[in-house]
Amino acid sequence: MVVNSVHWFRKGLRLHDNPALQEALNGADTVRCVYILDPWFAGAANVGINRWRFLLEALEDLDSSLKKLNSRLFVVRGQPTDVFPRLLKEWKVTRLTFEYDPEPYGKERDGAIIKMAQEFGVETVVRNSHTLYNLDRIIEMNNNSPPLTFKRFQTIVSRLELPRRPLPPITQQQMDKCRTKIADNHDQLYSIPSLEELGFRTEGLPPAIWQGGESEALDRLNKHLDKKVWVANFEHPRVNTCSLYASPTGLSPFLRFGCLSCRVLYYNLRELYMKLRKRCSPPLSLFGQLLWREFFYTAATNNPNFDRMDGNPICVQIPWDQNPEALAKWAEGRTGFPWIDAIMTQLRQEGWIHHLARHAVACFLTRGDLWISWESGMKVFEELLLDADWSVNAGSWMWLSCSAFFQQFFHCYCPVGFGRRTDPSGDYIRRYIPILKDYPNRYIYEPWNAPESVQKSANCVVGVDYPKPMINHAEGSRLNIERMKQVYQQLSHYRGLTGVCNTFHPNKTSIQPAEWPLMKVFQYLYFFYSCDQKHCSELSVGS
Ligand code: FAD
Ligand code: MG
Repeated sequence: MVVNSVHWFRKGLRLHDNPALQEALNGADTVRCVYILDPWFAGAANVGINRWRFLLEALEDLDSSLKKLNSRLFVVRGQPTDVFPRLLKEWKVTRLTFEYDPEPYGKERDGAIIKMAQEFGVETVVRNSHTLYNLDRIIEMNNNSPPLTFKRFQTIVSRLELPRRPLPPITQQQMDKCRTKIADNHDQLYSIPSLEELGFRTEGLPPAIWQGGESEALDRLNKHLDKKVWVANFEHPRVNTCSLYASPTGLSPFLRFGCLSCRVLYYNLRELYMKLRKRCSPPLSLFGQLLWREFFYTAATNNPNFDRMDGNPICVQIPWDQNPEALAKWAEGRTGFPWIDAIMTQLRQEGWIHHLARHAVACFLTRGDLWISWESGMKVFEELLLDADWSVNAGSWMWLSCSAFFQQFFHCYCPVGFGRRTDPSGDYIRRYIPILKDYPNRYIYEPWNAPESVQKSANCVVGVDYPKPMINHAEGSRLNIERMKQVYQQLSHYRGLTGVCNTFHPNKTSIQPAEWPLMKVFQYLYFFYSCDQKHCSELSVGS
């Protein structure tokens, strides 16, 4: 029987460690690699130009790698459910392969496609390679619910066998066996769209800071591993002036699109560690960052409401304020706090910000200062981040806003002090908010406190050339801590608290509300509250 395969790329935009693609090639007579994209839908989606550009570059890179193997990428315009019936018939497809997508929306979409393929008599082969572990297995081992603390998650993972070893890249020899004729008008029919075709205006668009694609990802991986010290640092992201900028070794957008396999990263780290430490097996903590990614994927996989408060069983219901004007100021970097505004500007211009910079702006928007819902912040990140990932983004926002996964409870960031400690020189601010470039270091994080003469000689008068701080941080954060305290007080009276309680007692399966260590929470609250206030009064923020 003739085997005509189609491999459907979605994430997993790579030729290395791609088990579903390997299945497509296995014993096939023809293989076509397909990416489906709806240009009409592109404009309407909540995805900014930087991420589209990254995606298009990743597709260009795939196409050029396939060309080297005498094949091509077929970019088909439309929606999967409309496109596939036509393609399956036209190409007499007998086998459809794709990578398993663990996210609820992806599972639903794929379920419909598998059903449709069955009706056409087409075999579907789905393989897991976007995550290290089989997430359903983790859930099964945790009494059929996702672990809600990282500690519990790690305990379960430590009982699992190691992740599967990555597969090698596909080879010329493999491709030759299923060579598919490429039509002369291939570029007319199946070319990669331009940003203009997707409805973006590109005049004046600065060059990309992050270039997408598997080739770039593998280059970066090597740079990563070249830095042996990096392995030692991998466990704890430390932040200093340098780490705030886009790094040539950053990997998150590449893992997000699957330009880099997480298993390749995992095994490279493991081997490097074993080489350095004389064949000693690495501790789980070496993979901490990668495990956080798995943690959020696991928490989200069976929860279609993971990205909202409403109807989300793991999310504490908090009465956030509606304040579109304040939200816009935050999103556009007009809060009047240079540290916050610089981060939001970098995010909009470049598409990536450091983990702790994400902490700073997320805390400011939600429980720290503005008391605006994490969902609004998540949507802005979803639009602007190159690495925006449905599960990780929503999970991190819930975390930061104290809506779920209570671990680093109520660690509150000061929008002046945090920046100053991170980059005392203020050069980061000068780079992203050039209007403040002539401010002396002493005032660059709190320009409103500079004497008028200093403001004038720096050519930037607060309230005229740069906004006044939109909130009195000392007062705002004090009020918000009171509000959070009330939310948690009410929660302690709420009977269905089991899920929340489990996060404090990961080893117990059911806990009575009375056991909930509320006092501990308040101790944390007051600790951070008081140290934050002290810090801010020293700096006379908001005066
Ligand atoms: P490294 O520090 O070098 O880590 C290697 C990889 O591990 C990353 O590429 C990433 O895939 C993963 N990783 C690292 N830290 C985390 C973490 N805390 N949680 C989950 N995965 C992690 N990361 C995303 O990939 N997508 C998101 O949409 C996203 N949204 C976030 C939203 C908020 C509010 C916060 C606080 C964090 C978010 N993160 C997100 C996590 C983290 O900030 C980024 O993964 C990290 O900054 C990426 O930088 P890096 O490539 O240098 O990662
Ligand atoms: Mg890093």
